[in-house]
Amino acid sequence: MNQVDYLRISLIDRCNFRCQYCMPEGEELNYILKQQLLTNEELLTLIKEVFIPVGFTRFRLTGGEPLLRPNVVEIVKQIASFPETKDLSMTTNGFVLAPMAQNLYDAGLRRINISLDSLDPVIFDQIISNRGRSRWQKVWDGIQAAYEAGFDPLKLNVVVIPDVNDREVLDLAALTIDKDWHVRFIEFMPIGNGHLFGDRGWISSEELRQRIHKRWGLTEGHVSGNGPADVFQIPGAKGTLGFISQMSECFCDRCNRMRLSADGWLRPCLLNEAGQIDLKTLLREGVSTLQLREQVRELLAIKPEINFKLRDSGTNVGNYTRTMSQIGG
Ligand code: SAM
Ligand code: SF4
Repeated sequence: MNQVDYLRISLIDRCNFRCQYCMPEGEELNYILKQQLLTNEELLTLIKEVFIPVGFTRFRLTGGEPLLRPNVVEIVKQIASFPETKDLSMTTNGFVLAPMAQNLYDAGLRRINISLDSLDPVIFDQIISNRGRSRWQKVWDGIQAAYEAGFDPLKLNVVVIPDVNDREVLDLAALTIDKDWHVRFIEFMPIGNGHLFGDRGWISSEELRQRIHKRWGLTEGHVSGNGPADVFQIPGAKGTLGFISQMSECFCDRCNRMRLSADGWLRPCLLNEAGQIDLKTLLREGVSTLQLREQVRELLAIKPEINFKLRDSGTNVGNYTRTMSQIGG
């Protein structure tokens, strides 16, 4: 069993996109009320006095859309300033990234994953349910700004949806040839509101790899922070290709992470609500950070059981009542 030292922190459950596989329009979402969000102070206290002492050293900021969180640059700066922080990264849709990229980098963020499901602005806007002026260019500008600011590695996340963007897999893979960008293909998961795309099924990483292999050949690759991704490279390319196969492959036994929701629930497994702890309420009730550490330690001890419960159930899509945007996918 891997050491669990990686915490994904959802800074906010709201988003400026409505991706059809995540939070489609028309679906009722119960947003977290402002007073229920962890304050910056509570979040930083939990990281410094609870998570770091029990062994977490790697943090990823996510959401919803993390860049919508007020004072996000300050939050980055504070987390980066803890001497125990070995790795600080973010997953963003990139829409408001361009003017913030340099500030985030200067504040200490070093790795960034930007979601880019299509190179075609029309398909991109369909996926994010945008009917106004295309939003693609601003995301692309965000990617360029992150590249110029020096983010390394810079990863582009692509959720592959049959008959929506799967025809673009070779074009997206080709982005890695001339630039050291790292494109990661994620198997689409019919979880939360994702069921709206669910009828289309999903395409396995293996099939995508074969398509790419047929065009260019593929060799094994390496990129830092590859987590559950299997990494390959087009021969001679500057960047790499990652394949995240949570639908076709169970990697519960390699799981090294927990998730903290924007309202302070610590969740040991993405797809399973077992064992979660309401850290915010405990903190507000005056439970000491020493006691919270103990509770988190106890949760760490039973995490393997929770992971395997899901694996043994024979499905990779477990029980959930929250969407990816609410859990902080
Ligand atoms: N808003 C940010 C973004 O889109 O990058 C961060 C939060 S989003 C929930 C994190 C990641 O989860 C994104 O890469 C997104 O594509 C992925 N995701 C959301 N719903 C998904 C689903 N049903 N299946 C697979 N990946 C999903
Ligand atoms: Fe927003 Fe990210 Fe979900 Fe898309 S995937 S709706 S950008 S949280």
